[in-house]
Amino acid sequence: MEQNGMGRICKKCLLRDMNDKDVYFKNLGDYIENLDADKKAEEDIYEERLGLCKECESLMQGMCRHCGCYVELRAVLKHQSCPLDKWKAVTI
Ligand code: SF4
Repeated sequence: MEQNGMGRICKKCLLRDMNDKDVYFKNLGDYIENLDADKKAEEDIYEERLGLCKECESLMQGMCRHCGCYVELRAVLKHQSCPLDKWKAVTI
């Protein structure tokens, strides 16, 4: 993991990986935690999606530069998909 303190940018980090988790992350984490189960992707799909995001050049400080979403929020929603088609929506 790259450093993300004092002016350095962590390109390959998810929000949950960052050392300086702030209130916004806590709110996002709480939001994800409390989403309706029927809206959420299965845990293995979620982790697979996040693994692909972590390898993607479009990830910047937890955000996708193509869609502007925090990937942890986009990936947890089963109907969502990657704007570059690296992972797909769950349709069943
Ligand atoms: S959503 Fe797609 S384009 Fe965006 S960071 Fe993840 S893999 Fe890359």
